[in-house]
Amino acid sequence: MTALNGRVALVTGGGRGIGHAIALQLAAAGAQVVVASRSQDELASVVREISDAGGVAAAVECDLSDRSQTLALVADAGEPFGPVDILVNNAGVGSSADPRPLAEFRDEFWDLTLEVNLTAPYLLSKAALPHMREQKWGRIITVASINGRITAPHAGAYVASKHGVLGLMRSLASEHAPEGITVNCICPGPVQTRMNDVRVEYDAERLGRDLEAHEKQLTPVGGRLIPADIAPMAVYLASDAARMITGQAYNIDGGICMA
Ligand code: NAP
Repeated sequence: MTALNGRVALVTGGGRGIGHAIALQLAAAGAQVVVASRSQDELASVVREISDAGGVAAAVECDLSDRSQTLALVADAGEPFGPVDILVNNAGVGSSADPRPLAEFRDEFWDLTLEVNLTAPYLLSKAALPHMREQKWGRIITVASINGRITAPHAGAYVASKHGVLGLMRSLASEHAPEGITVNCICPGPVQTRMNDVRVEYDAERLGRDLEAHEKQLTPVGGRLIPADIAPMAVYLASDAARMITGQAYNIDGGICMA
């Protein structure tokens, strides 16, 4: 019997990067995991990886920038194994997709970032809550960012969305604390993923620095994190051991934010 036996988890953006690591570790802890994103090939590969390791997983293709798809996701994710007990809001649009000062920001990119990073977690949480409330047990875990704590240049929509999602999750936590539902955030620093690779290259070029030297000084501990540095916190927050932890946001950032 492992910590999450019998629980069904939905991990958005579970096809690669941080979501991939979280999906793998939730499955290793006994959860039945549904991964969701737009890239079918990546989802299929994660499902295979989990099955090969003796776990249970399924995939649902979903574009969280399309409101109708977001609204259907929690119900669709409940089909393979039953209703979602653990919702991991991980999918995100990074600033690296179109970094600019706010004065030159494209409104379409603002809307896209807010839709995927803030509105989707709101809608998915709302859709997951009825089952969690009924069974008096639920976990909502959102991958925010240290940019939910501090700003970054040329990343206005991203910073706003990540500050916003911390507030959203605290509101949910306070409203559902007596119902056995905990709601928490993880705030990663720079993690080696596709999203952050592009950002690190952009910043090195913007600052006129050698890429390797720039990367080395990104955290006080040194260099960047890897997705597997983030996943154990998600597994812990999903477990019964963390039943008294709610409304919190944990920095996993190599020591960038020490406040
Ligand atoms: P990543 O490897 O690029 O993964 C992003 C994931 O989000 C992918 O699975 C992607 O899948 C999914 N996604 C993006 N847009 C989507 C959409 N419209 N609909 C559905 N899924 C979508 O980046 P990552 O670094 O692991 O990012 C995961 C989370 O960590 C994000 O919320 C990010 O803001 C946060 N974070 C990352 C870092 C970092 O340094 N890497 C730091 C702090 C916070 P598809 O493209 O296939 O749809």
